[in-house]
Amino acid sequence: MKTGFYPGSFDPITFGHIDIISRGSQLFDHLYVAVSFNPNKKTLFTPDERLEMVRECCRNFPNVEVIKSNKLTVKHCLELGASHILRGLRAVTDYDYEFQLTNFNRKIDSRIDTVFLMTEGQFSYLSSSSVRELAEFGGDVSAFVPEHVKRAIEKKMADITFKKSAK
Ligand code: ADP
Repeated sequence: MKTGFYPGSFDPITFGHIDIISRGSQLFDHLYVAVSFNPNKKTLFTPDERLEMVRECCRNFPNVEVIKSNKLTVKHCLELGASHILRGLRAVTDYDYEFQLTNFNRKIDSRIDTVFLMTEGQFSYLSSSSVRELAEFGGDVSAFVPEHVKRAIEKKMADITFKKSAK
């Protein structure tokens, strides 16, 4: 049984992430999607909000399990019996960072290897940060995220605007 582990911030999850999850679910018997929780990293959504949004997106993938992770990726893989980390690659700009991360992880424990899926061309420009930026400027994010994520983004933006105006 092959188990994969797809870690990410998913702040928020986009169609690009969902494409990697969908294709990854065909590579592995079981795929963990691990929503990272790093208290030092500032995110728009809380870990629970991100977890909920990712869960909703993965409901139709029977072999995909969405979990929260605040552990070292390699350590968490070993705990769960995952042999491979799954990552998505968009452009050469991702390459440097992913290359460094992969080698770092292999140095920690060479039993855990990383596999990459190249993004679908239509998602190559898509990132959580560009979705956040678009939303902050009141743009329409519906081409980039599922409907429930769009609603969560709109609610978050309204909450932020309300908090700012109450100051
Ligand atoms: P992290 O903070 O760990 O990079 P992200 O949520 O930004 O978390 O990304 C998680 C993974 O998903 C990374 O491997 C990233 O390259 C990949 N990814 C993000 N957006 C896309 C996309 N549009 N197409 C394919 N892979 C993507």
